[in-house]
Amino acid sequence: MNVVTRFPPSPTGDLHIGSARTALYNWLFARKHNGELVFRLEDTDRERSTQEAVDVIVEGMRWLGLDYDSGPFYQTDRFDRYKEVVDQLLDSGCAYRCYCDRERLDKLREEQIAAKIKPRYDGYCRDRYSDVQDGSYVVRFRTPLDGIITIDDEVHGVVKIDNSELDDLIIMRSDGVPTYHLTVVVDDFDMNVTHIIRGDDHLNNTARQIHIIDALGAPRPTYAHIPMINGADGKRLSKREGATSVLSYRDEGILPHALLNYLVRLGWSQGDDEIFSINQMIEQFNLGGINRSASAFDQEKLLWFNQHYIHETPLEELAEYARPYFAKAGLHIEDNEKFMLVVDAQRTRVKTLVEMAEKSTPFYGPFLGHEESAAKKHLRGAVQEPLEAIRALLLDENPWTPTELHALVETVASKYDMKLGKVAQPLRVAVTGIAASPGIDVTLFLIGREECVKRLDLALAYIRNRVQSA
Ligand code: GLU
Repeated sequence: MNVVTRFPPSPTGDLHIGSARTALYNWLFARKHNGELVFRLEDTDRERSTQEAVDVIVEGMRWLGLDYDSGPFYQTDRFDRYKEVVDQLLDSGCAYRCYCDRERLDKLREEQIAAKIKPRYDGYCRDRYSDVQDGSYVVRFRTPLDGIITIDDEVHGVVKIDNSELDDLIIMRSDGVPTYHLTVVVDDFDMNVTHIIRGDDHLNNTARQIHIIDALGAPRPTYAHIPMINGADGKRLSKREGATSVLSYRDEGILPHALLNYLVRLGWSQGDDEIFSINQMIEQFNLGGINRSASAFDQEKLLWFNQHYIHETPLEELAEYARPYFAKAGLHIEDNEKFMLVVDAQRTRVKTLVEMAEKSTPFYGPFLGHEESAAKKHLRGAVQEPLEAIRALLLDENPWTPTELHALVETVASKYDMKLGKVAQPLRVAVTGIAASPGIDVTLFLIGREECVKRLDLALAYIRNRVQSA
């Protein structure tokens, strides 16, 4: 069997974490089985669907590397086909025209609410007319009144739903626009979808859709309903936590591989393994490993994966990912060799690429001055002489290499009988303006001789001033 999965978002908003995970699972399953992923935009709700939302979804998938084999298909291009199927269902008696007006339906609803029964269509038009009537109508699907529908779900096992729970749902509105339940079934059938992997908030819809599938004589696909993603508090995921666009994670400096690894583990497991290369994900992903219960979104864990991949990604590749973040932070990369060294020096020290760029400001002019708290703490009278000694040595024409610079700082430290750190930290503050940077040797090396001396002069002026006014 040729496996065909699908990713069918409604383009009414951002591509958020939950949808991205659904897309990933469908992609992995298709890739694992050398199958196909269909990409479809369920845009029948014309008022809420926007091109902007389509663009965001497409860009999010591109950034994550989730490619598809066919599509994008737009449901609004397929209205003739849906009409054809609705006619077929009307002809076979599996659907009927319902002429009930709003007034009647509202009244029915009020009565049902007052009687404490679940509001649902009462089947008034189900067997009422043999001919087409005057006036506007919707088309309803004739759901069996009794019996049980059984869904053999790959995640939840056998799920039984009483047909009496389902009413005769509308498959085409009075303006001729087909509804989600119809379009999704027709598309999955026409596009030969074999596996439907989607959120378990769709389980009830699946029961309804299986009836339509059966009425069309279409094969039933295999279903895997994946549990929801909740916030850390177990409640619905909030915007702040992760219900935001996948692209906002890109903007925060998350690597796509880190997000994919995080998402694959958010609801799926293979023993205790955490780290998966893309190929390992494809090889090992299986529907049986999907958790049955909801997952909790955990921002710290995402950052943990990101830190891991910032550390592990080959340098050249990482540098290409990092480049736009440096540009956005206003840092002009002219010297590529230096840029590589900066990225390599920072990769063990940061959790995001935004942080990497921000922390790299001292390596790219102009100097922003000494941060007040760092200066107060580290630029004291006691280090005036050692810093002056270092300044003098820096001006000597000795080779400008991290090794030489390390030796130089060590020499001064031992001359003043100080621990290396007691000299290196004030020196760091003096040349970077801040209290944290890579090793002092690399830091000096990357800032360059001339700039180091300039900044040391400013620091020494600060210290002298401080000493005088004390
Ligand atoms: N357009 C639907 C959604 O975004 C698709 C649901 C499905 O997978 O059938 O929820």
